[in-house]
Amino acid sequence: MVKELPVIYLQTAACSGCAVTMLNSASPTIKNVLIDQIVPGVHINLKFHPVVMAAAGELAIGVMEDTAKKQKGEYVLVVDGAVPTADGGVYGAVGERDGKPVTMQQRVIELSRDALAVIAMGTCASFGGIPAAPPNPTGCVSVQKALESAGIKKPLINIPGCPPHPDWFVGTVAGIILNGLPKPEELDDFLRPRAFYGKLIHENCPRRAYFDEGKFAKKFGDDGCLYELGCKGPITHADCPLRKWNGGTNWVIGAGAPCNGCTQPEFPNETAPFYEKLVDVDLPVVGAYWANKEVK
Ligand code: SF4
Ligand code: SF4
Repeated sequence: MVKELPVIYLQTAACSGCAVTMLNSASPTIKNVLIDQIVPGVHINLKFHPVVMAAAGELAIGVMEDTAKKQKGEYVLVVDGAVPTADGGVYGAVGERDGKPVTMQQRVIELSRDALAVIAMGTCASFGGIPAAPPNPTGCVSVQKALESAGIKKPLINIPGCPPHPDWFVGTVAGIILNGLPKPEELDDFLRPRAFYGKLIHENCPRRAYFDEGKFAKKFGDDGCLYELGCKGPITHADCPLRKWNGGTNWVIGAGAPCNGCTQPEFPNETAPFYEKLVDVDLPVVGAYWANKEVK
């Protein structure tokens, strides 16, 4: 018999970009993810997803609430977006109960309480992202903060990115199906899977030789490292240079634009201005290695 992993995908304060990136998964395709067995004997049963489900209104909310009740402790809750908390959370609602809107904050808390685990999909869910950037009138916070303020301790995995690469999400879900929840050592200090976020962009960048030689692009389209044009690769953890985007076609720096640091907790506020250089990165001194070597 095929085992099912029920998934509730909740959208809170967000732009839908993270949902769209998931739909762009190339290998496996989203059809494989949703309909086929992602590993032999197990498949995902996507119970609720505001962007892709056919049902709407009470019918859709009913399936979501039923899943939480009947499959308590078995489903994965994915939250895509930050959680508005100002003024009792009135700035965002998902469905109604007894004729009154249920706030996004309430939904995240209720559904997390009974979930097997929670995945924060995208930088807004992981760290607050754009909705939580100052002046933040809606009091948006990350999923982690929302759960902490409600005293909920639940396994949480952050998949940041604006948007995240589809592989980062699909690979994490497949990992849960194959091996269970990630062990603490498989996540970094910001609860990101090390498998995808373990290295700096700068470590694997094809323009790194230019950086080491001090050859910097002065305008877009120049050869050279994009550091002077605002690249945040030296402080940003992700495997974009190796994995690339759009089915492995290209990626940001490959297309000549600087990395904006979208997977970092500091994004967007502290990684902006995006086209101004980082100030506190040590620039290499060309030839320093040889100058310090003893001549034999
Ligand atoms: S600063 Fe940016 S462009 Fe330059 S080597 Fe590092 S990651 Fe690549
Ligand atoms: S290159 Fe940088 S800005 Fe672009 S997706 Fe990767 S981490 Fe985000």
